[in-house]
Amino acid sequence: MHLAIIGAGMAGLSAARELRQRHPDLSITIYEKSRGVGGRVATRRRNGFVFDHGAQVIKAQDEDMDRLLHTGLPTEGLRHITQPVYVFHADGTIVEGDPTLNAEPSRFYAAGLNQLGKLLAAGLDVRREIRIAALRHETGTERWMLFDANGAHAGTADAVLLTPPAPQTAEILAMSEFDPTLRDALVRELIRVPYRRCLTLTLAYDRPIERPFYALVNVDRQHPVAWLALEHTKGTERCPPGHSLLIVQMSGHFSLQQWDAPAEELASAVIEMVSMVLEEDLRRPMWYDRQGWRYALPDGVAKADMLNSTQTGLFFAGDYAVGLGRIHLAIKNGQEVARAIDAWLNR
Ligand SMILES: Cc1cc2nc3c(=O)[nH]c(=O)nc-3n(C[C@H](O)[C@H](O)[C@H](O)COP(=O)(O)OP(=O)(O)OC[C@H]3O[C@@H](n4cnc5c(N)ncnc54)[C@H](O)[C@@H]3O)c2cc1C
Repeated sequence: MHLAIIGAGMAGLSAARELRQRHPDLSITIYEKSRGVGGRVATRRRNGFVFDHGAQVIKAQDEDMDRLLHTGLPTEGLRHITQPVYVFHADGTIVEGDPTLNAEPSRFYAAGLNQLGKLLAAGLDVRREIRIAALRHETGTERWMLFDANGAHAGTADAVLLTPPAPQTAEILAMSEFDPTLRDALVRELIRVPYRRCLTLTLAYDRPIERPFYALVNVDRQHPVAWLALEHTKGTERCPPGHSLLIVQMSGHFSLQQWDAPAEELASAVIEMVSMVLEEDLRRPMWYDRQGWRYALPDGVAKADMLNSTQTGLFFAGDYAVGLGRIHLAIKNGQEVARAIDAWLNR
């Protein structure tokens, strides 16, 4: 029996690990369109700086997640954020954050949060830089053929788990050949869940920027800056001594409006806003980095039961099945769907 998994993000990798444990004889191939694993749990390196430009922290008050991080995976470099998150309002006021939320563990890896993806992927067969564009259900054998973006045959499997964000999964299905009534119903369900965009600006400075918080979050959702983190507080691995790194995540509304803005224009507008929020002149960073997340966070939830009950060998997982963009929830969802796949394979 062979399972193909599309996407090596949290959901795809955790599903593969769960199935490898339950079904040692099952062969599993993961197809990933990018060069690395981890999906939106992503880290970049530049000029001696290391920064998490996607997900920031693993924030979960969750026993399963604790077990995975502390006993299921090597713990080297696993750290806690020690400073609190403060909140800021559209009018610029900054106040201390919710003490209960701040007391919950907030974890990261010293070498970069993408360490989590690398650890989860250890020993798995991940084929990188293959974008799966379409599937075809073979009548007779009931197997699924996978095709890449050039239309080349990439593999054949008894079951396929799709884990890209809902709109991207819908695109794959729309290009696929199988029962058109079922295909249209699945696409309709998937496109019900839009994703918010997020423009992320990383700013590097050759001087210390000290504050009593690790990050600021805009709770009234009226400010164009949604999240502002002092990435250098994650430790000495993040930047040279005496330097600073700021991660600025823009609101969904601002990101959509400014998506095509030239990087320089965008950077100077963002720097202006951050200078106001932190009440410090932050013009002239050493460098800045722009990342656009077209599918950053789900704005809704799909009917996971409907998607995963087709009895055709097609399965779906990812944060849109939970309705909240969180690392631990995507991992849990991957594990849950893996159990459904296991039951289907053993039917
Ligand atoms: C800016 C930002 C900040 C965030 N901050 C946090 C945070 O601090 N804490 C937290 O818990 N969560 C955070 N999240 C949310 C969290 O990162 C996601 O909810 C979670 O990583 C989703 O995992 P996933 O496996 O569902 O999807 P993804 O990570 O999107 O994985 C899907 C994978 O599929 C691949 N793929 C897509 N299409 C194809 C194709 N056609 N063929 C092959 N491969 C394909 C993608 O490259 C990707 O690797 C943040 C997200 C963003 C964008």
